[in-house]
Amino acid sequence: MGSSLGLYHWLLSQGHTVRVVAPSDYPDFLQWLPGNDQVLQFTREPEQCIEHFNAAAIIFCLDFNWMSRVEQMEPVLRGAAAVKVLIDHHLDPEPAFDHIFSYPEACSTSELIYQFIVSLGGRDQVSKASAECLYCGIMTDTNSFRYESMRSDTHRIIADLMDAGAVNYRIHELVYDNFTENRLRLMGYVLKDKLTVLHEYRTAYIALSAEEHAMFNFRTGDTEGLVNYALSIQGIRMAAFFAEREGMIKISFRSKDTFSVKELASAHFNGGGHRNASGGRSDLSLQSTVEKFLALLPLYQAKLLSE
Ligand code: 5GP
Repeated sequence: MGSSLGLYHWLLSQGHTVRVVAPSDYPDFLQWLPGNDQVLQFTREPEQCIEHFNAAAIIFCLDFNWMSRVEQMEPVLRGAAAVKVLIDHHLDPEPAFDHIFSYPEACSTSELIYQFIVSLGGRDQVSKASAECLYCGIMTDTNSFRYESMRSDTHRIIADLMDAGAVNYRIHELVYDNFTENRLRLMGYVLKDKLTVLHEYRTAYIALSAEEHAMFNFRTGDTEGLVNYALSIQGIRMAAFFAEREGMIKISFRSKDTFSVKELASAHFNGGGHRNASGGRSDLSLQSTVEKFLALLPLYQAKLLSE
């Protein structure tokens, strides 16, 4: 949302007609982003979205690498006659896009959008609204500027965005100090009762059933970041979060240093992502998915325990 709305505001300022289409809903804590009220959601208003896809001259595809990642929107995106420009930082982009700007070493697509704007001569034309969106995108994708992907150049971009009007502490508050009571209580429940730690595999995981989601009146985004708590335990190198949602099991994986959860997610859980942050899905039951994961751990034990 940060990269899309960041680019949206800049393109508008250049006189273009622009619409942002999100494939599905997204967390409440992103809905303060300037321009949010103009975003169309494919799952909520497909006809309107299809009209825009069919009328577009250019479709910027931001922060995903394969068309299948936009799920129900995939056939519409594939079928649109517009020029498709991918700007992204996930590994192995699908060759189907017309132009591919793929930089897996970049910390976030928002950083790439800033560089894209600068390369088009727009450095001095980044509005406050655009700066706020891009700041938010970089902040959330780097877990507040702490991942390995955060380079000194990224800090310089952050400085530029602050100079353009992004108020850093406000954005942190809007994203991180904006929990509903349910979300915080769900977090407490998960950390106290649902966290399993397997020191022999340097692995920790959480599995949450549909009933447990319902107990806390789950809304999209409520479990975001929980997997990072599992990874924060001393000695833990891989963390997984299994969530029974929307008739399937959605999985988030995180890891530290050279252990690749992308490889694990793509080999066994129909997924992908980055080396240290990946995701996937399973059509098995929650219990069977966790059992499958546990059965895989001995295969990865040597890598998990290696220095
Ligand atoms: P998250 O755990 O935050 O949902 O996702 C972490 C990373 O894994 C993101 O970069 C995301 O693109 C990727 N990812 C999450 N779910 C899937 C999936 O089902 N398939 C693929 N290919 N990547 C995923």
